[in-house]
Amino acid sequence: MKEKRVLQNLHRSILRSNKLKADALAFLEDVKALPDKAAVQKQTLARKKRILEILGGTEKDWSNWQWQIKNRIKDSAVLAAILGLSDLDRKRIDKVSLHYRWAISPYYLSLVAADYEDNPIYRQAVPDIGELAPGGSLDPMNEAQTSPAPCVTRRYPDRMIINVTNQCAMYCRHCQRRRNIGEIDRHARLEDIKVALDYVAKNEEIRDVLITGGDALLLSNQMLNFILAELHKIPHVEIKRIGTRTPVTMPQRITPEIIDIIHRYPPVFINTQFNHPLEVTSEAKLACDRLIEAGAVLGNQAVLLRGINDKPFIMRKLNQELLKIRVRPYYIFHAKNVQGTGHFQTSINQGMEIMESLRGHTSGLAIPTYIVNAPGGFGKIPVMPNYLMKMQKDKIVLRTWEGRISELDNQPQLYTEESDLEV
Ligand code: SF4
Repeated sequence: MKEKRVLQNLHRSILRSNKLKADALAFLEDVKALPDKAAVQKQTLARKKRILEILGGTEKDWSNWQWQIKNRIKDSAVLAAILGLSDLDRKRIDKVSLHYRWAISPYYLSLVAADYEDNPIYRQAVPDIGELAPGGSLDPMNEAQTSPAPCVTRRYPDRMIINVTNQCAMYCRHCQRRRNIGEIDRHARLEDIKVALDYVAKNEEIRDVLITGGDALLLSNQMLNFILAELHKIPHVEIKRIGTRTPVTMPQRITPEIIDIIHRYPPVFINTQFNHPLEVTSEAKLACDRLIEAGAVLGNQAVLLRGINDKPFIMRKLNQELLKIRVRPYYIFHAKNVQGTGHFQTSINQGMEIMESLRGHTSGLAIPTYIVNAPGGFGKIPVMPNYLMKMQKDKIVLRTWEGRISELDNQPQLYTEESDLEV
């Protein structure tokens, strides 16, 4: 009898394992649609060589972040020479640039593959005629009305943002802060930063300060050191956060000097923005390794973008790749209705489908929170598929990731009589 039960259990375990394996294999099959890594690396090297030739740079220049910034590609003729764009592509880029500025770091441009048109790197970097479609708002978060002091954005009780610059290594075409980007690069004035720091010091409930922009790591080392040092002196500031996309768009910025600065003022949390597995390169990994060695805790805030990462297998693969480089997937932001970015928008349903495809199918560590920002700057709303089917006073009905329905008692078992307890 006992042997029969053991065999039955084994049989059931094998059937279940086969079902789970089929689920994982279906994902591995989907992932084959992504370009082969070795082929991509080869193309990237060729592209880098071409960029260096056209810009007249050297290997040494390439690893210098200031060279990368100074040589951002902003001219359609140079872009066309590097990528071999058609005249029509150039005309379209020039038309968009009359309304919105663009600039691409040589490093990020080197990641564009040969079949550039549908390439997720190209689409995030190069202006698209879809940006001129009407609709959307420049300030859907009502940031103009959540700023009680210069450079400050305050939307939550115990934390706030200091906006330190509008400069970025690349002006992402989907940027949700397009309003801040403006026409010229501009760091915040020292006087305004001092007022913002003073605001933090005078408000003892602020325990968490995010330094962002633009891209906070586009500040000079001296200025970043100054801001972190000042925050570090304020006793009620428990954590500092830095918002930067440089590990993705210009990993050369993560220099020994910046590591040294971050190391001095723990705890520092750094959130970056990888949106596609092709962005997780060996250079990006090295930048993240260095930040981790400096003691920073790394998280990723992806933006859900139509045609880039709106397929469940791409988002799953991205999150798995991030864990491999020790970056914890933190948020997936639903793209807001920002003017000039409507062509990237997805439905919230698509975001929910992605979340459904993650839970249970991959490690919990690879599952970020899907966030829809409330219009008007009223904060983040976490959105997820419904696993709670029914809730009553004494009973609760839940759904598992595979759709099995489970009914549980909703009352704690209380033992009031000593006789209830087994002695
Ligand atoms: S790095 Fe961030 S702030 Fe800068 S353009 Fe890209 S998305 Fe916008």
